[in-house]
Amino acid sequence: MSDLPNCPACASEFSYDDGLQYVCPECGHEWSKVAEDAGADDTAGVRDANGNKLVDGDSVTVIKDLKVKGSSLVVKVGTKVKSIRLVDGDHDIDCKIDGIGPMKLKSEFVKKA
Ligand SMILES: [Zn+2]
Repeated sequence: MSDLPNCPACASEFSYDDGLQYVCPECGHEWSKVAEDAGADDTAGVRDANGNKLVDGDSVTVIKDLKVKGSSLVVKVGTKVKSIRLVDGDHDIDCKIDGIGPMKLKSEFVKKA
């Protein structure tokens, strides 16, 4: 019984796993396992400078002048970037910027538009 959560209604330790939900045999309370999973997932994912979650297809605004590697171009603060794509790695946003072309950004230097 050690790895099951106590009943949120009566704090009983005798809750059991009923497949899709937990059930408390003492007070009859039933509660969903799914909600807990969703809560855990909330800490994952790519977030912008303000901590807002980013998803594929989002539009973001650059909050800092960013030099483009291997060129003299600079992505100016305030530049809008449409249809981002999240990728793994240090630079976790793949996108295409008007006048510059495809490039990668760090999520910490953008905010959700
Ligand atoms: Zn209970």
